[in-house]
Amino acid sequence: MQGPIVIIVEHARGEIRPSAYELMTLAGKIRETTGAETRAVMLGKEIQGAAERYSTACAVPVTAVSDARLRDYNAELYTMVLVDILRGMKPSYVCVSHSSQGSDFAPGLALRLSAACISSVEGMHDGENGLRFYRSIFGGKMRAEIKPAKATTMLTLQPGSFKPHAAGAEAEARVHAYDVTIPDPAFGSLVIKTAPSEGIDLSEAKVLVAAGRGINAEENLDLLQQLADQFPQSATCGSRPIIDAGWMPYSRQVGITGTTVSPSLYIACGISGSAQHVSGMRGAGFVVSINSDPGAAIFNVSDICIVEDLTAFMPLFIENIKSHRAADSI
Ligand SMILES: Cc1cc2nc3c(=O)[nH]c(=O)nc-3n(C[C@H](O)[C@H](O)[C@H](O)COP(=O)(O)OP(=O)(O)OC[C@H]3O[C@@H](n4cnc5c(N)ncnc54)[C@H](O)[C@@H]3O)c2cc1C
Repeated sequence: MQGPIVIIVEHARGEIRPSAYELMTLAGKIRETTGAETRAVMLGKEIQGAAERYSTACAVPVTAVSDARLRDYNAELYTMVLVDILRGMKPSYVCVSHSSQGSDFAPGLALRLSAACISSVEGMHDGENGLRFYRSIFGGKMRAEIKPAKATTMLTLQPGSFKPHAAGAEAEARVHAYDVTIPDPAFGSLVIKTAPSEGIDLSEAKVLVAAGRGINAEENLDLLQQLADQFPQSATCGSRPIIDAGWMPYSRQVGITGTTVSPSLYIACGISGSAQHVSGMRGAGFVVSINSDPGAAIFNVSDICIVEDLTAFMPLFIENIKSHRAADSI
């Protein structure tokens, strides 16, 4: 008899992250093959209401640990409490979101449980010799297929890889409080500040023009802004190197550690297509990518692939749009 599939539900002070519902979809797919039951675990402060919401929406029993010291994420306490719970559950799979939080505690937790750890999972299939999980490697240029070889496997799921679980008929909430002695942590967060946002909210923009390292110089951001200006409800955004360089504020970062966006049109300029970036823009309706490398991974998720040098292509592209607009308005 296989041990249960356990989902670690990520939330911010009771607000459940959308990725927690994607974990339920992953668990459902594993269950189709293994038949193992699904359970969820949630840690936090006064999380009874949130645990009930998750239990109802996903029709799973939730084990909840509520303690003031767990109000905000703390790697040390999370690992300690989860080791305690999971040793008792003897899970076959533990599903964690590949967020900054999940990717922080999952490898150490796997080590403590003598479990396998497959990180940044983007998909799975039922192979001849059991389940295989796949993930991008070499910045998205290749795909690795991995077969777990331990009784317990920790999976961190790249957000956006599966559709969120669609709630069926309202199930009765099943929440079990779990008692564990929690010591004062060696370190913890004093304050959590939300980064200030400027301009249009990225998650509400209809057209996004995204800058990657391939724009090469800060001055070239002007070209992207000119392109964005051609569309209503548009904005510019960037990949992490652009934000790290200080060329755009953090509120403009798209990706796993930035914002998740779903515009009608996403124009990726000089972006290679790493899994961390793609997971933030996978929901875009139509993707146009401009990249000088014909093998760039971003082309795997693009509707139109333009193999060109940005600095040569962009001015012509903008001029072309402007002249079409002018002709249309005559
Ligand atoms: C824990 C973690 C979290 C992360 N979170 C994020 C995140 O939220 N968002 C994010 O974006 N990244 C994130 N990253 C970083 C991510 O792994 C990649 O390093 C990053 O996305 C790469 O950005 P890029 O595509 O702009 O740059 P690169 O990978 O350097 O790609 C630049 C691209 O530009 C092309 N290019 C170069 N010159 C030109 C030219 N003249 N004309 C046209 N094309 C050109 C190149 O061919 C290349 O494909 C994270 C990484 C880690 C480890």
